[in-house]
Amino acid sequence: MKTFQCNCKDQAILFFESSHCLSCGRTVGLDDQFDQVEPFELDEETGLFFKAAQPEIRYQKCDNNAQFKVCNGMVNLNTFVPVADKDEVLCFACRFNETVPDLNVVEHIPLWKKMETAKRRSLYTLNALPVPLHNIIQDPERGLSFDFTTDRNVKDHFVSQLADHETVFTGHDCGHITINLAEADDVARSHTKLAMGEHYRTLLGHFRHELGHYYFDQLIANSPKKHALCKQYFGDDELDYQEALKQHYEKGAPESWRETFISEYATMHPYEDWAETWAHYMHIIDTLETAQNFSITGSTSGNSVDTEEVGELHLPQDASYFSAQTSITNILDTWMDFSVILNSLNRSMGLSDAYPFVLTQAVRIKLSFIHHAIHNRLNLLPALKK
Ligand SMILES: [Zn+2]
Ligand SMILES: [Zn+2]
Ligand SMILES: [Zn+2]
Repeated sequence: MKTFQCNCKDQAILFFESSHCLSCGRTVGLDDQFDQVEPFELDEETGLFFKAAQPEIRYQKCDNNAQFKVCNGMVNLNTFVPVADKDEVLCFACRFNETVPDLNVVEHIPLWKKMETAKRRSLYTLNALPVPLHNIIQDPERGLSFDFTTDRNVKDHFVSQLADHETVFTGHDCGHITINLAEADDVARSHTKLAMGEHYRTLLGHFRHELGHYYFDQLIANSPKKHALCKQYFGDDELDYQEALKQHYEKGAPESWRETFISEYATMHPYEDWAETWAHYMHIIDTLETAQNFSITGSTSGNSVDTEEVGELHLPQDASYFSAQTSITNILDTWMDFSVILNSLNRSMGLSDAYPFVLTQAVRIKLSFIHHAIHNRLNLLPALKK
């Protein structure tokens, strides 16, 4: 994720979540292009907003921005198409929401905001990649939607069950992603993380994992040829899922899992291996974009930053596509160097490693498959002999 800049005289830095400029005080936000945070002028007479360079286009704050401050979306009123029977005006990211948390419970609102932050970050990276990204209004058959509900009580950090609520499972089902609101509660999530012996559990990670399942359907499952190739890299995803789940929770991951998998959970079933690996691909390119933004991609082997190498990465901010010409080897080599820096910075602050994972050659090959799937270049990959 890169940072952005206001056009006021201080050229103040704007972050992805900024809703106003700290220097000039103007409203800032993301329009439906969803690619940059920028300042908006207020038309006092109408209460609507416009960009200085395009005064003819009027914008309104997304309802979730105006009422709840859970996003910083700005809606272009020239192109906005209202949904039948609904008088809401929602931004690009909020239009993916099917169910938001019960807002009669005020404690849900700050947790919902955390959900939205993670969702928006995951969508930003996808929006820069050459993959389909449509909500269910745009594509009722294959569009994407989100549910942020819970079956538990926010008042005790989601320990007790709410009466008359069906169990809410975080997961993906035919384009519909559900994330239990409990995952946004630090106490509840840390408790689960420790109980499951995980080294990494974040909201952003949940979004990217579930989106991985969605894109498996979009990019792989509907093409017999791609699906057959994918099975060579990830294994047979048509194996009995319930049986694999049962085995995983009874026996745990095989001892040598680190050699071929990115996480213990990835060992459970090829379908989960894909989703875990997909999430890591997204973590890697987003974090490298951030590093490149601050010119700190760096190299641990030398003592200076190789700007030429960094420049060649062509991360999402450079173009409307995450360059298909950028080799995955280059991305992963840069990431290996940078993750050492990242972890060292965290240790200096007394924090745990930001990236507590090892990318073995076997994992790199799977990440490479995902890179090629995203850029529709799977025809360039060799069939693997197992
Ligand atoms: Zn400003
Ligand atoms: Zn919004
Ligand atoms: Zn999964």
